[in-house]
Amino acid sequence: MTNIVLQLTSEEQQKIKTFYNKSLIDRNGPGILFGIKLTDTAITAYKSGKVMFQGAGATREAAKWGTVSATAKKSSNTKGDTLPKDFASLSVIGSDETGTGDYFGPVTVAAVYVPADKIELVQELGVKDSKQLTDEYMRKIAPDLMKVCTYSILTLRNDKYNEIQAKGNSQGKIKALLHNQALKHVLNKIAPEKPEYILIDQFAERGIYYNYLKNEKEIIREQVLFSTKAENLHVAVATASILARYAFLNEMDRLAEIVGFPIQKGASGKVDQMAAKIWLKFGEDTLRSMTKWHFANTEKARTLLQKKRSN
Ligand code: MN
Repeated sequence: MTNIVLQLTSEEQQKIKTFYNKSLIDRNGPGILFGIKLTDTAITAYKSGKVMFQGAGATREAAKWGTVSATAKKSSNTKGDTLPKDFASLSVIGSDETGTGDYFGPVTVAAVYVPADKIELVQELGVKDSKQLTDEYMRKIAPDLMKVCTYSILTLRNDKYNEIQAKGNSQGKIKALLHNQALKHVLNKIAPEKPEYILIDQFAERGIYYNYLKNEKEIIREQVLFSTKAENLHVAVATASILARYAFLNEMDRLAEIVGFPIQKGASGKVDQMAAKIWLKFGEDTLRSMTKWHFANTEKARTLLQKKRSN
């Protein structure tokens, strides 16, 4: 699936409206002029002159009205949809997850709405270049961000994660379900207000993402864009990534209290060692409830445990 945005004059927009006149649909979001629904393409025209083409036929339809190759150019080394030029200054819900590569601790997903008039405030509170953000820094600024932004944070503890995973659900599917749910929550909280866009930090391509969601009752599709490194494209995603991390760290603190020492992040050999230690001291059920049991770390820890026991 593709997303293409063209910048057109109001005369050109009028031509588009006339051309697809039979496929016009009711659309009333902020700044929207009109919407068109074709079998494989959704077209949205904005008062700003932007026209967005979404769907399998986006390239074909957009090519009728502008130069697609020029506008579809991606910014350096990101993958995903082409975003409007002034994207960083728009009202956006962003979503991101963390904890997916960590043996210990939950998968957490956060979605955050940052309307245009709060972008500066959020930056002021410390959401800057995400690569410079340490865990300690994120712990410090997250509570303030939660006071000023509308958000949803979902923490999937590992007892539940293991149960869902054992039923044959991939981690990709689990993530997609959580993103969809978090976005739904935020949309409900801000209604009747709507964001101009929703940006998901891309972990799967659009088609795969929506395939994961195909059995869901309510699937968030409207104005949804995907991009990798999305935290650099809008502060809403950067904020979501901070809140997801904050929730992850809080859950790691809870686990640390149970075992009496800080929990190792990631999935390295140190993690295997710690897992074996917890297994020996607290038993398999306790370890299982704290970990993503299907990770290879489990078998490595089992081997270490057997050595410990035979010593
Ligand atoms: Mn991400």
